[in-house]
Amino acid sequence: MRRNSAAVGNGATGDSERLSLLRELQDVRVLKEVFEAQQIRGAVFECELCNDKHYIDWDLIVDGLEQNMTNGLAPLHEPAVAPNPDEYVSWDYARGLLDGYESWSGRPSWRP
Ligand SMILES: [Zn+2]
Repeated sequence: MRRNSAAVGNGATGDSERLSLLRELQDVRVLKEVFEAQQIRGAVFECELCNDKHYIDWDLIVDGLEQNMTNGLAPLHEPAVAPNPDEYVSWDYARGLLDGYESWSGRPSWRP
């Protein structure tokens, strides 16, 4: 896949980093679909800036990754308003399930 060279060159983001972000974006969309079916709205992140937990909706995670591709910012330092912890899973937990998901050929058995 060849990209238009005119669109390349905002420096900070190399092609391999960009590919991994695209991959990550795909992953989050899978997580969103799978977890929203279970009334899970997003994931919990340990924030390095304020040493606190942030509850981030899937859509905001997608937004964050997309912004990451254009300006290199990691905008996860944006807690949800009055989140219900029951509606969020830890990011590590979500990624763990995703690893299993990718190795399955069919539908995940834990999906209702
Ligand atoms: Zn923070």
